[in-house]
Amino acid sequence: MEKRKLVIIGSGPAGYTAAIYAARANLEPIIFEGFYSGPAGGQLMTTTEVENYPGFPEAVTGPELMDRFRDQAKRFGTVFVTEDVKSVQLSSHPFIVKSPSHEVEAEAIIIATGATAKRLDVPGTRDGEFWQKGVTACAVCDGAAPIFRNKDLYVFGGGDTAVEEAIFLTKFGSKVYLVHRRDELRASKIMAQRAMNHPKIEILWNHVLTKVEGNTVVGSITLQNVQTKQEMTRPAGGVFFAIGHEPNTLFLGNEIEKMNNGYIKVIPGTSKTNIEGVFAAGDVQDPNYRQAVTAAGSGCMAALDAERWLAHRE
Ligand SMILES: Cc1cc2nc3c(=O)[nH]c(=O)nc-3n(C[C@H](O)[C@H](O)[C@H](O)COP(=O)(O)OP(=O)(O)OC[C@H]3O[C@@H](n4cnc5c(N)ncnc54)[C@H](O)[C@@H]3O)c2cc1C
Repeated sequence: MEKRKLVIIGSGPAGYTAAIYAARANLEPIIFEGFYSGPAGGQLMTTTEVENYPGFPEAVTGPELMDRFRDQAKRFGTVFVTEDVKSVQLSSHPFIVKSPSHEVEAEAIIIATGATAKRLDVPGTRDGEFWQKGVTACAVCDGAAPIFRNKDLYVFGGGDTAVEEAIFLTKFGSKVYLVHRRDELRASKIMAQRAMNHPKIEILWNHVLTKVEGNTVVGSITLQNVQTKQEMTRPAGGVFFAIGHEPNTLFLGNEIEKMNNGYIKVIPGTSKTNIEGVFAAGDVQDPNYRQAVTAAGSGCMAALDAERWLAHRE
């Protein structure tokens, strides 16, 4: 069986950054980039312009940015396997990482498998339709784009994130509609109050999205009242899903400790999990910030933590 000091699972900004640091530290990391779980390169492979990643004043496309991350990891000798990890054995050491065609014995592991933004599956919102052409799942990432300026924007969801995103979008849209399928928000009282009192936010209770239409970008949406079943079509410049994220941890057993929301639990201020020698980085352990630069930063932390842990054992 192949033996490695360090195996990295996941290839977004966190995994590639961990690979850059680990490879430069001569740990000869192998990285499982994913395949069916999502494109190698992670969530940014599905977006166009990234305007908030430092060092790119003219903006950069998500795929170009991730290609650069990958090239940098490759330059220092990272080994890439473009497959999904199917299982990890963490109950004894060395750990064993399995993908369809590889089985690797690992002294240390960094889990950087990210999270998947939940999307509503409604006509007009899918890939190849208006996804990323006015339909998005990240207001903080995309809200400032010119296509959303001075338009009616619609946020779907009822929790704190939905309210936060709606408030954020009031800086750009002419009006922000918060659409919720129930007659009460799940958000905390204080957040719900903020949304209800905001002059640019209107809450549409008991409504669901049934269709998104437009020419090249989103132009209108159709909503249905869940009680009366009546539909209405309204002009819209943007559709923002704020219905939560799913951390990608299904391949892990129950040995890794997780938070109530399913994200991997790390010791605060570190990337250390409850299992010695297993580290977590990026969105898979961060329900809060979920940005490329924070993911990259925590990938660096995980590589340094792993390097120190391995050195200490030696
Ligand atoms: C549409 C969109 C636009 C965004 N725009 C911005 C932006 O402008 N600026 C910004 O800062 N952030 C943006 N974000 C958020 C940003 O993309 C994420 O915060 C960041 O990518 C998280 O990085 P990560 O490395 O933790 O994980 P991810 O990018 O999620 O990458 C995880 C990788 O792990 C792989 N993986 C999953 N399971 C397995 C497995 N079992 N085995 C092997 N591999 C696996 C996945 O396929 C994926 O490639 C955007 C997100 C989305 C969805």
